[in-house]
This record gives sequence, C-alpha cells and structure tokens, in this order.
Amino acid sequence: MNILISVLLKIELHYFYPFYLIMVFDKKAYREKNKEKIKEQNKEYYEKNKEKIKEKNKEFYENNKAYMKEYYQTEQGKKSYRISHWKGRGVISNDYDALYNQYINTSNCENCNVELTEDRYITPTTRCLDHEHTTGEFRNILCNMCNIKRG
Ligand SMILES: [Zn+2]
Repeated sequence: MNILISVLLKIELHYFYPFYLIMVFDKKAYREKNKEKIKEQNKEYYEKNKEKIKEKNKEFYENNKAYMKEYYQTEQGKKSYRISHWKGRGVISNDYDALYNQYINTSNCENCNVELTEDRYITPTTRCLDHEHTTGEFRNILCNMCNIKRG
C-alpha cells in the first residue's frame, strides 16, 4: 500500500513539475513586464495604508527585537544585512552571494593596499564596496578613505 502511494506521488510530481515551472516563469515574466505598474501599485498601497503599515512594523520590531539582534550577529544574519544594505544603496549584481564572498575575503584595499577592518562605526580603513553610482555595477573592494576619494 505504501509503495503504491509513493509511486502515485512520484507520477503526480512528475506530471505537475512542468506546470509548476511554467507558473514560476510566468510570474517572473509578469513581474518583469509590469515592473513600473507594480511599483506604482505598491506606492499607492503604501500611501493609503501608511499609518497602519508603520504601526505594524513597529509592533513587529518590538516583538522581534531580541531575536533580530541575535540573528544579525550570526554569519547568515550579517550576510543578509550586508546584502540588503548594498541593494538599498543601488548596487546591482546577478550574484550577490559571490559578491559577498569576495567582499569578506578581501583583506586589503584594492587601491592603496591598507589592511581592511570590519568596524561597528566607520573608520578610514573600514571595508567598503565601491560601485558605479549610475549603473549600480560593482567596481572594487576599498578602504573607506579610497571609497570617499573615488566618490
Ligand atoms: Zn584604500
């Protein structure tokens, strides 16, 4: 009986898999095609529900403060925090994981060769990701001094 069920399940999964792929693809294509429209809708939604969203966010933050604090001290937490920070600054990459690995594994500034540091508050030697501001393209891993000079 169990064998029969598992065989049936396998058949069913194989049968549905292509449909699943099409669904995922369609969603992505839809989002690509309607980027501006979705952005506009999100903005509209935010404007309409601003107070409610703010209240919810605050509530969520209060409830998860301790957990978040702990999470952001783990390697995974540091990584996701860093990547979302880059995205917020307009860095565009097709492989943020690879970018992050390169970032944490670069020990010296690629311009002046000073030893890079990881600091809670920014110092001249703090490790920075330098990107082209107009295209969002990654350029170099630099110390903060060189990053500022390059602009
Ligand atoms: Zn430097």
